Amino acid sequence: MNAKLIEYTLPDRSNSLLQKYRLNEKGRLFLSEPDYIIEKENGKIILAYKAFDDFLNSDRSWGNYQNMLLNAYPELQIVHNKQMKWGIIDPVKFPEEIKDYKRADFEKYLNQYTEGYLDTLYDSVINKAHTILVPVSNKPVDLCMFLPYGSCFIDVGEKKDTIFISLFINPDEVQKIMAHEYAHCLHHQRLPEEPLTLRRELVSEGVAVYLTTLIDEKYGLKKAIPFMSEESVNWCIENEKILKDTIQVELEDSGDQIFTKYISDGKLATPPQGFVQKTGYYIGYQIIEACIKKGMTLEEICSLDSKTIIDQSGYFNIR
Ligand SMILES: [Zn+2]
Repeated sequence: MNAKLIEYTLPDRSNSLLQKYRLNEKGRLFLSEPDYIIEKENGKIILAYKAFDDFLNSDRSWGNYQNMLLNAYPELQIVHNKQMKWGIIDPVKFPEEIKDYKRADFEKYLNQYTEGYLDTLYDSVINKAHTILVPVSNKPVDLCMFLPYGSCFIDVGEKKDTIFISLFINPDEVQKIMAHEYAHCLHHQRLPEEPLTLRRELVSEGVAVYLTTLIDEKYGLKKAIPFMSEESVNWCIENEKILKDTIQVELEDSGDQIFTKYISDGKLATPPQGFVQKTGYYIGYQIIEACIKKGMTLEEICSLDSKTIIDQSGYFNIR
């Protein structure tokens, strides 16, 4: 504030709860060198991890972290907020923890990808996906590659969609994640609005996994689900009946437990006793595959609500 690089968003309401800071023109200029953006025809690739590298080379104060990362890259603020919401970072401890970050611990992640690789990744996944489902909106799609947080997800905004991929993930997985998340974008463009239910999430993940198997044939179902091992998929195949019986009576459920039981992985997951994590992805794929076998097109499936899709798939009626 003292360097006059930021300003209040509500300058005449200094005590408002809605009060935030933002960069002013001088602040933006100050931070715009260097900027780590690759402009694309309809979106951009945001190399936010490079700004994190700059942060590691600074005095690593919380002020620097905010200026160099959270304020300079609004996308990183989205990641930061999600991590707090998910309970992965502690808003009180985090500003202290970053002061002890050492570049040596992050070095191997920072140099995993060349800009050329990411550029090709973005183009190749999107172009291939468009041969399967043509985009029906011209909303831009950004790809944000970031540190120091884990997790991969998509943020569907009014003006743009953003695919978030952490550099902590195995580089062998990055193409699959990109395909999965971009599939969500293409699905979303067609999707009728409906409230959150387990049913909706099963269909959503099912479409993304199904599309991933079409974007690159090397991902059969067993390799197509992000962060789900082949052993876990095998468990689902062997236990499909019990899975079906359990999930069938919970299709209308909403609330966080649908994610923790059937969608989440890692520490956030609390699957039913004896179940592996992420079984919702497997069931979702099966529902979509059942529709395709009945002659429905992916285009048709993407434009229907989840109840219609599940009814028409007949999946839960097959014994
Ligand atoms: Zn997904």
